[in-house]
Amino acid sequence: MKCPKCNGELAEQTFLTQSGEIVIDKCKRCAGIWFDKGEAELLRDDWTSVSVDDGDQFLGMIYNEIRNIDCPRCQQPMKSINDPKQTHILYEICPEHGFFMDSGEFSDFRKLSVKEAFDYILDMYRKDHPDDTF
Ligand SMILES: [Zn+2]
Ligand SMILES: [Zn+2]
Repeated sequence: MKCPKCNGELAEQTFLTQSGEIVIDKCKRCAGIWFDKGEAELLRDDWTSVSVDDGDQFLGMIYNEIRNIDCPRCQQPMKSINDPKQTHILYEICPEHGFFMDSGEFSDFRKLSVKEAFDYILDMYRKDHPDDTF
């Protein structure tokens, strides 16, 4: 699978946690992370963003400037969501398939499961775009 941001190679990485294995796709070039919605049911207490998201924050800031990316699963344009608490940060989400985070962004979600992070981002999007249905 290709990275939606930089077209680099997304490499599958498996992390063993107390709740089971989770597979994420991480870009070899920009260190962005793609989270599949289907993989998002696991994880909370033993979820360590540090081990997953160990990319360079400055790299993440550069790639955060890249907007209008397509979902790597369905090739549809992804929805962009501004974090109301950190307005410089933009998340990209495909409500059907998952979400993409730039390097360093996931550390803000270390207290949440991936599922909760996904729901949280989706929630932000809905508040932003109340007329958009999906
Ligand atoms: Zn990339
Ligand atoms: Zn999609």
